[in-house]
Amino acid sequence: MPMTTSASVPTESEGAINGDTVTDRLVEANGRYAAAFTDPGMDARPVLRVAVVACMDARLDLHAALGLELGDCHTIRNAGGVVTDDVIRSLTISQRKLGTRSVVLIHHTGCGLEALTEDFRTELETEVGQRPAWAVESFRDVDQDVRQSMRRVRTNPFLLHTDDVRGFVFDVKTGRLREVDAA
Ligand SMILES: [Zn+2]
Repeated sequence: MPMTTSASVPTESEGAINGDTVTDRLVEANGRYAAAFTDPGMDARPVLRVAVVACMDARLDLHAALGLELGDCHTIRNAGGVVTDDVIRSLTISQRKLGTRSVVLIHHTGCGLEALTEDFRTELETEVGQRPAWAVESFRDVDQDVRQSMRRVRTNPFLLHTDDVRGFVFDVKTGRLREVDAA
């Protein structure tokens, strides 16, 4: 069997295998990764001076899909790839302290947020007696949502560089990016 660092091994059941939890498997995979690792001698500033904001979706392998190498970019991910205050926080630090200039926004087909509505907040409130302070940021039209995200970045006063902000939809079936017009 070829040497691999993969933590994904065939399993009969989810969760524990031979008493190992998924986290145990990740830590074991890291042992193999570290054994082959050599210090690339980089500093923290991304080589390509780009920050990518994307959905956390498991089918979106950002580095592979965009030809990115270690050290090339900042990746900022959350449910939907939504430009929240916390994403702005990361982008502000990325641009002002770590020298990035370009922003790439990536949403995708079949996003879980399309199946949700803001009613999710009410459901949570009913269940736990507390309404979340955050918006669900659900959407119906992915292109429109990408446009809104681009606008949030472009109009943000904390960001130094808002001239190169582009938005895309990643197709999880074909692996292809489709650019969304800002207009
Ligand atoms: Zn998604």
